[in-house]
Amino acid sequence: MSIAENYDAFLCDLDGVVWLGHEFLPGAVETIRELSGDGKDFCFVTNNPRLAPADQAELLRRGGIAVGNHQVVSAASALIRLASERHGDGAPVIAIGTASFLKQLEDAGFELLADDRAGSARAVLVSGHQDFDYNELKLASMAVRRGVDLIATSNDPTMPMPDGLWPGSGAILAAIETASGGRATTAGKPEPALFEAGLDVLGRPQRVAMLGDRLDTDIAGAQACGIDGILVGGDDAGSVSSTVPKWKIEALPDLLA
Ligand SMILES: [Mg+2]
Repeated sequence: MSIAENYDAFLCDLDGVVWLGHEFLPGAVETIRELSGDGKDFCFVTNNPRLAPADQAELLRRGGIAVGNHQVVSAASALIRLASERHGDGAPVIAIGTASFLKQLEDAGFELLADDRAGSARAVLVSGHQDFDYNELKLASMAVRRGVDLIATSNDPTMPMPDGLWPGSGAILAAIETASGGRATTAGKPEPALFEAGLDVLGRPQRVAMLGDRLDTDIAGAQACGIDGILVGGDDAGSVSSTVPKWKIEALPDLLA
């Protein structure tokens, strides 16, 4: 009996499981197509806020995976929900992240403050991006020192790319926390919000598993929500996590073996 036969639906991480820097991993598309053909449901659950869920869904479709936009949920969506609950729709914020992340915040109604108005921010909303600079670090950390709420998409120290691990949102967040003395609330995995959003998309199936490459976020977070965790090719060497995945595989095709 294959591992896949134990489940009717999967929450599935993207980076490091389906693709690396949007380059599909060997056998990933074929495996997801075969399982979907067998009637198994997928919801893709990603801490990567750099692209809007609809844009990530489009990349999956271009790769040959038939998904609807609603089948991708990201840490940015979870952050938006959290920040709206705490500060109301339309709150003025200092926002740090990619152009796509900033647009998602604007579309959700937040007022993104220019530097000279940073003093009226009610929250600092942070996500990793490659143009992070000293001025952003200064504005964010000074606001947090004034007591402004710090919320980030995730605490991931790195993100997997084809040439190795790049600094992730957590690395940028650490700079802000160091400079401000404050601590952030994070919205993405391993916090429950993203897993719960994914389960809602799947219709709350009984036999569901989470496929992820990170023991401390994907697997630990899923299992805390009562979902079986399947570690996919994760390099957990040196990890101090006490989490034990239900299954451990090298790559998605092993689900069918
Ligand atoms: Mg991953």
